[in-house]
Amino acid sequence: MSTAYTLTVGMEVHVELKTKTKMFCGCANDPDGSAPNATICPVCMAHPGSLPVINKEAVRQVLRVGKAVGGRLADYTEFDRKNYFYPDLPKGYQISQYEFPLVTGGELAGVQLTRIHLEEDTASSVHDSTLGTLIDYNRGGVPLMELVTEPVIHSAEEAGKFGRELQLLMRYLGASDADMEKGHMRLEANISISRNERLGTKVEVKNINSFRAMEKAIQFEHARQSALLDAGGEVQQETRGWDDGAQKTFSQRQKEGSADYRYFPDPDLPPLMLSDIPEFSDEVLTASLPELPAARSVRYQIAGLSSSDAETLVKDPELGDYFDAVTRATRIQSFKKTAANYVVNDVASMTRDISNRYSILKDKNVISNFSKMVELLEDKKISSRSAKDMLLGLIQGTIIDIPQHAKEQGLLVVEDLELVARTVSTIIQNNAKVVDEIRSGKTSALEFLFGQGMKELRGAVNPQALRDELKRQIG
Ligand code: ZN
Ligand code: MN
Repeated sequence: MSTAYTLTVGMEVHVELKTKTKMFCGCANDPDGSAPNATICPVCMAHPGSLPVINKEAVRQVLRVGKAVGGRLADYTEFDRKNYFYPDLPKGYQISQYEFPLVTGGELAGVQLTRIHLEEDTASSVHDSTLGTLIDYNRGGVPLMELVTEPVIHSAEEAGKFGRELQLLMRYLGASDADMEKGHMRLEANISISRNERLGTKVEVKNINSFRAMEKAIQFEHARQSALLDAGGEVQQETRGWDDGAQKTFSQRQKEGSADYRYFPDPDLPPLMLSDIPEFSDEVLTASLPELPAARSVRYQIAGLSSSDAETLVKDPELGDYFDAVTRATRIQSFKKTAANYVVNDVASMTRDISNRYSILKDKNVISNFSKMVELLEDKKISSRSAKDMLLGLIQGTIIDIPQHAKEQGLLVVEDLELVARTVSTIIQNNAKVVDEIRSGKTSALEFLFGQGMKELRGAVNPQALRDELKRQIG
């Protein structure tokens, strides 16, 4: 039923930027880490006569995001007042951008972007059952990036992919921690359905606090709006919230036309000619960009990694950096696939819940010994079983030097063919009955002797050499 209508979604995403200070004053930008109302001043409290000053770093961060998504950076830009009453915004207006956003266009995860602008965050309300609603102004005035996409998303999965890519990009750029649970990144989805080219009436869903919730809200709206139209009804233009407990959207307020915010340029702030500011030049901004997730993924795939290994390393940059470090140290480039296998599967699980994971993965000794381990493995000098055991010891700090440990513990594969021959000879003497069985045609019994040999040599033997020697001596 619901598949009969085309779903169309446009996203609006707000992201708190990780600057030292707030957007228009010198207060610390630390809403999570401070006591309530500790990081406030006359500017962010909108006291009469206080004057805002633009935070250059916040502007720079948005321009870097713009560069990263291939958007057009503004030459001229200005800040506007968006007038509306809100209890946690004492000014009576929000400083935002209207006609001249910092960035227009661009693309991320295959989704065309409309614009990216900069504004200030509102304070946060805390609802207390005895004291009523309390307001913490620490968050008021925190630099807030707003990114708007074109209505070009046609499934919940695409919307989820876009959101996750944006989160990853903000983290790669160091522009925001983009932690959804802490409200660093907040999603709104404009959802409509239609049977033809013309977009249907859109419903705005807010209060979405996870990517999963967003996907579910979109699916829910697709079904709800389809049922409405099928029953001959109409979709109301409205704002709806997402109820994570009930797994459904609910009506918050109907929209009576579009609100008139009476935007006008903030007379307390100067317009900016971005081309006049050296730090905002194309070259300087481009040089400030790290390798971006998409480029990193391509680099890994060119190196021969599977797309799932590449994806794991891109999405977990700490692990990706570790992989880059160990493969820099590893002698031969073709070891990359083996290295990726151990990093993505073993190192990832061995370090998953360790609090000092980052320092372990950065440790020069852990890096260089991993490389040596891969080399031993590729040279067939250790078994994969020993490799895994030693890797765990390395990460837990009980093994400091893998080659030395392998040597002392007799884990190095025996290259001494005489030792292999002597071992096989002893095994044959001690297992005369099994040898007779093999000679009379029960070749599967050879596996038993092979197991004995592996045990005797502690697995530190080339399995083929052992097998060959057994066959040779049994005849
Ligand atoms: Zn302040
Ligand atoms: Mn906004």
